[in-house]
Amino acid sequence: MRRPLVAGNWKMHGSRAENGALLEGLLSKVDTAKTDVLVCVPFVYLAEIAYQLRGKPIKVGAQSLCAEAQGAFTGEVSAAMLKDVGCEYVLVGHSERRSLYNEDDALVARKYMAAQSQGLIPVLCVGETLAQRDANQCFAVVETQLAAVIKAAGIASFANAVIAYEPVWAIGTGRTATPDQAQEVHAFIRQVLAKYDATLANAVRVLYGGSVKGANAAELFAMKDIDGGLVGGASLKADEFLKICAAAG
Ligand code: PEP
Repeated sequence: MRRPLVAGNWKMHGSRAENGALLEGLLSKVDTAKTDVLVCVPFVYLAEIAYQLRGKPIKVGAQSLCAEAQGAFTGEVSAAMLKDVGCEYVLVGHSERRSLYNEDDALVARKYMAAQSQGLIPVLCVGETLAQRDANQCFAVVETQLAAVIKAAGIASFANAVIAYEPVWAIGTGRTATPDQAQEVHAFIRQVLAKYDATLANAVRVLYGGSVKGANAAELFAMKDIDGGLVGGASLKADEFLKICAAAG
């Protein structure tokens, strides 16, 4: 039985005051009896938020990391640093990183391995653009993105990872994949992994991301292969995010 996970991706939003109010709202009502809840916050707030959430039911993650371990990489943040400040998870391969910062599959795989080398759990984001979906390339794109990581890190690495299927056309657009569309790709992701290890393919958590809201979360999370969500915009409002968390439990 896979335990659901709902992860908020705050992206480049927030301030110390706003974060404090948001966390207070979440902590006052969050119920993690049946669901893991995670917030992925901007680097500068990680240490403070990890400290605030010590011993609390909400976990903390980063939104990216450097593939290198240490050295002359101005502006970058290493996996060891994330671990040091209390981070447990890190997003890798988010579509905004892939498209805006030219992160290709090889770099995403290196970041994934860097995260695991420090005991962080990577949330590997995969998904197709609208043009790719319209050209019937969705499965091929997702398989290529997964294959790069399987090749570099090995299938066994998925015992300590989470996958997020995020169709690029659904991120921040208000346009959500239908439950059937999402389920089809989630099942395909398990099929790809099952070619290497059927047990792991069944055990790994696969989240859906792309305009998840309180109003559509339950129907998405009811699908057999959807184990929760990666939530952008709606994770910035405590009540809305709590509704999504409740739908996963
Ligand atoms: C995301 O940031 O990964 C995301 C899915 O955003 P949104 O929920 O706003 O579409």
